[in-house]
Amino acid sequence: MSRLSVVLPAYNEEQILAKTCRILKEILSFSEIEYELVFVDDGSSDKTWNVIEKVSKEDRNISGIHFSRNFGKEAAIIAGLAQASGDAVAVMDCDLQHPPETLVKMFLLWRQGFEVIEGVKKSRGKESRIHGKSAGFFYRIMSGATGFDMKNASDFKLLDRKAVESVLSMPERNMFFRAASSWVGFKSTSVPFEVQEREAGETKWSTRALIGYAFRNIVSFTTIPLQFVTAGAGACFLCSLILLIYSLIRYFTGHAVEGYTTLLIVTLFIGSAIMLSLGIIGYYIARIYEEVKHRPRYIVSKIIHGGMISEETDFKDV
Ligand code: UDP
Ligand code: MG
Repeated sequence: MSRLSVVLPAYNEEQILAKTCRILKEILSFSEIEYELVFVDDGSSDKTWNVIEKVSKEDRNISGIHFSRNFGKEAAIIAGLAQASGDAVAVMDCDLQHPPETLVKMFLLWRQGFEVIEGVKKSRGKESRIHGKSAGFFYRIMSGATGFDMKNASDFKLLDRKAVESVLSMPERNMFFRAASSWVGFKSTSVPFEVQEREAGETKWSTRALIGYAFRNIVSFTTIPLQFVTAGAGACFLCSLILLIYSLIRYFTGHAVEGYTTLLIVTLFIGSAIMLSLGIIGYYIARIYEEVKHRPRYIVSKIIHGGMISEETDFKDV
């Protein structure tokens, strides 16, 4: 019989983790799905790891990975995918915002032969207008960059083993899982789901963190900002040609070329365009620098598997 692994990244989720675990176990056993749950504690500062230890001692189908510090959700997902051994692997949030019933639906679709099943948000849940607008802008760029409609994309997905191996074989340090799992291709479909309210704890995303996340992901998937630089240079060149012709005509028709103010504006404009361009290029260089350092994506400090804890530090670098 085929086995489903569920990867759950968890960062400071002590309040809800046990409940999530219980509900998942209930639903999966009820649906007669053989399961494995992989909780990845992303360096929580609360008692999340203690809860993971407790639940995994009670049930051998539950494993836990403990990071040495907070490495971010993407790293936690990758670590979970590397640990999961099922024929199909699902990724879901551990705050119950991704409904477990949808997970069962995804698994049935996988049985029908689909290899990548994407959870698509029916609506984006409660968020402020400005947040919604900027998220919309970000996803428009990302959709353009990846060629997939990312507007309502989420990290709630189910992947066939083949797709999991493909994602794990992607060498970049800075992975955007949401886009990477579409990028690998395979026979895919989507399942709409309604984002649930968070029952306990709070969101881990500040506005600043979200902006950083958006920039990093755009740069990791597209070089369009660099083409803006070239386009800007082209536009400046065109303007200067027009200005040159205009000045020459004025000169030869006996008018002096006046305009200290114009000169100042042009200088300032070009100066800021150059600095902006350097900034964009600098940002790419910084990302390249991070990639070439080739540091591990995460450092594991403890693993609990089959009820056994291993304390070996693991620099697994998949
Ligand atoms: N998460 C994580 N590492 C982080 C931030 C979040 O593993 O640095 C996990 C978190 O525990 C949750 C999921 O990622 O299971 C989604 O996070 P959250 O609910 O805070 O995001 P939101 O649903 O508000 O977008
Ligand atoms: Mg959430």
